[in-house]
Amino acid sequence: MTAIDTGVQDLGRRHPEWKPWLAVVQEILREAANPIWEALVPARTEPQQSKVPLLAGARLALEVRPVRQLVEQLIGTACRSGTPKMATLEPVLKAELDVAALFRASLCQDGKHAKETATVLGADPEAFEAVAALVAVPFLLACNRRWASAKSVSWMEGYCPVCGAWPAFAEVRGIERSRYFRCGRCSGEWQAHCLFCPYCGMTDHNELASLVPEKGGATSVIEACKRCLGYVKTFTKLQGSPAARVILDDLASVDLDVAAFEQGYRRPQGSSEALRPADVCKALLAALEGSEGRRRKRKRDQTPDAIGLGVKRDLLERAVVADPNPEAFEEWLLNYLRTYATPELWGPASAMARAVFDEWRLAHSLEEFRIWLENGAPSDDTKDEKPRERPSS
Ligand SMILES: [Zn+2]
Ligand SMILES: [Zn+2]
Repeated sequence: MTAIDTGVQDLGRRHPEWKPWLAVVQEILREAANPIWEALVPARTEPQQSKVPLLAGARLALEVRPVRQLVEQLIGTACRSGTPKMATLEPVLKAELDVAALFRASLCQDGKHAKETATVLGADPEAFEAVAALVAVPFLLACNRRWASAKSVSWMEGYCPVCGAWPAFAEVRGIERSRYFRCGRCSGEWQAHCLFCPYCGMTDHNELASLVPEKGGATSVIEACKRCLGYVKTFTKLQGSPAARVILDDLASVDLDVAAFEQGYRRPQGSSEALRPADVCKALLAALEGSEGRRRKRKRDQTPDAIGLGVKRDLLERAVVADPNPEAFEEWLLNYLRTYATPELWGPASAMARAVFDEWRLAHSLEEFRIWLENGAPSDDTKDEKPRERPSS
């Protein structure tokens, strides 16, 4: 019996109600040993650029056959698992699936694609989304293995240097107590600062809290950020978990997730790359329209306000037009300031650039902000209602 099988069995004993899902997870972890996935990983010779995950922009020559086989295998296991929701996936087996699109969506953690596909086929959207999310995992684990030496040793971002996902948990290792983040998708690992929120970059210890759950013991804590309300499960251990165990370790510590949830903290979903700066800036522009409306209504002289709004509007409008890539947004803002045409307003512009960058980073981790964006960034002001509270930095 392999270490994976033992791990799955152990979890099944502790949580018998999870057995249907564990069967699917076991399937995907076994598949990860299939050499076919490694052969699909493009070779890399150039060193990693700062802030850019290795997978970003990689050209994949995807073979449809193994992906289709894997999808059928996973759906088959899910259908046989005995839960009514998973049983609704049956029609997916008979459908002509666009497996390349499914794989791409799984790679980018685009749950919407899976949900829409499920709806069309009459399958349960959540069950299909959960299974579809796993489809890219064997490939991602292979990327992490093959690109081990291409990874930048000085990577200190909050997201995975290989695939760009948020960490599943952190490990504080050995007598040196060095801190590492672990990726729940590709199982990658990267060193992390102590006192650092991976989601919004917060480093102020007053804004970071350590929660020790009653039953967790001293080796498992929740490190939470009061600003963005994100959290990271943190385990003290001698060594890092083997790659194939990361998904199981994440599942096994679900008690910590529940405890964090009860305290009002959330684990951001999706990929760190999902939001483009231009989308966030568009939303901030819409919010600005609202506050300008409010300002006009107050009808008193607020020249400094008006100047500040003008500076912000200019910055946001340019960002929307330029549409910089997420990893290049900071550089774009610096460039914007370097070429700023009105020297006397450089101070407000620089403060505004920092504020916009903070909002963009914060937007990654706030589900509410995401929903607000997806709804076209409605502004309560424009509807002449009481302004809705929205977190800002
Ligand atoms: Zn990763
Ligand atoms: Zn944070």
